[in-house]
Formats: sequence, structure tokens, C-alpha cells
Amino acid sequence: MTLDGTNTWIVMAPGSTAALVIDPGPDDESHLQSVCRVVADRGARVTTTILTHAHLDHSAGAPRFAELTGSVVRPIGRGHADLADGSVVRAAGVELRVVATPGHTADSLSFVLDADHALLTGDTVLGRGTTVVAHPDGELAAYLDSLERLQALTGAGVATILPGHGPVVPDASALVAYYRAHRAERLEQVRQALADGADGVDGVLERVYADVPRDVWPAARLSIAAQLAYLAERQ
Ligand SMILES: [Zn+2]
Repeated sequence: MTLDGTNTWIVMAPGSTAALVIDPGPDDESHLQSVCRVVADRGARVTTTILTHAHLDHSAGAPRFAELTGSVVRPIGRGHADLADGSVVRAAGVELRVVATPGHTADSLSFVLDADHALLTGDTVLGRGTTVVAHPDGELAAYLDSLERLQALTGAGVATILPGHGPVVPDASALVAYYRAHRAERLEQVRQALADGADGVDGVLERVYADVPRDVWPAARLSIAAQLAYLAERQ
């Protein structure tokens, strides 16, 4: 489910001696060490670490990374007590605006880096493939609202997406539009499958996700459960 691994983003203003790190990633000593090395090679040190959400492939390395760097980690573990929608993170000579984008998980955050016209999306929007709505923590209604928020941001200065997995996305607007269209299409397929008599998550899986490789079926099951819950609430 991590594609080619989790992206760890290092953000710093030109010439800054401080660095901000987003998502140190899993608890992988060699990866954490190499992040420290990249920052040190630029004559800087990590002063602040933030997380897009609490999934372990993004957050499990945070405690060890805090030890290695002495940086403040906001937030750590479960919940985002000290980062909320609309708050601004100032570190490393840059400002990041926090945008709550629940849906993949309840705690998912995105960060707007106005200086680079960039949006850091964690797992809300990926550089490749599409996102899992991780039912029951993740919810489809919230996810659709979050995509709408991201779409609005792309109309207000955001050009590029720096995702939690996969490559940088140069056309943020096109990708978010694709995600919205894809979600609507899947939902329609699920609605149709139910109308045709598909029974439960696996019934829908067989009809709608037959084209999806088997190794991502566990993820597909979560997204189907999220869609069934969404449709059930709206009957
Ligand atoms: Zn995740």
C-alpha cells in the first residue's frame, strides 16, 4: 500500500540553517539517518517535524527522528492536538498553512506552502494511483468535501502537489479533478452493482474491482466499505 515507499519532505528557505521535515516515515534507521545527512549537508539542522496523519508508514519513525534531531514533533502518535485547520506552522524560514483534509483517515492534514505554490497532501492525494478511504476511520463524505477544498486551493495559487507517495504532481488542478471524477465514477459503479444484486463488500469487489490487482484487494475492501456506509446513510 505504500507504492515505492513513503515520501519524506524536507522544507527550508534558501540559506536557512533550520529545516522542517514532513513525515519522517516508518521506523527505519537508515532512512532517518539519511534524512539527517541530507539536511546536515546543507549546513542546517531539523528544528520541526510535522505529520500528515498517524498511519505508521508516515509516523512510526517520528519518536526516533525526534531523538536523532532534537526537533519538536507536531503532532506525534494519534491525533493532532496541536495542529488544527487554519493554523500556520512557521519554521525554517517558511510558512505552512494547515488544511484539514479528513477522509483517507479522520486525522489527515494537508499543508499549503505558498512560497512554492505547492500543496503537501500526505495520502489524501497521491502521485500515482488513487487513495484508500480507510473505513471506518476514513469516511467518504469527508473525503469528497476534502477534495472540494483542495480543488478550491488549486484555483487559489496552488500549482504543484507534493504527495505522501509517488512523484511530484506538476498539475495539481488536473489531478484533483481526476480524483473527484474517479470517486464519482466508482460510487456510481457501486450503486449499480448493488442495484444488480451484489451482496456486501465482497460482492461489490467482484463486480466493480475485478480489474484491480489482487494484492490491493484489502485496500479496495476498505474503500468499498466506506462507499457502502456512504450510500446507506443516504437511502
Ligand atoms: Zn495513510
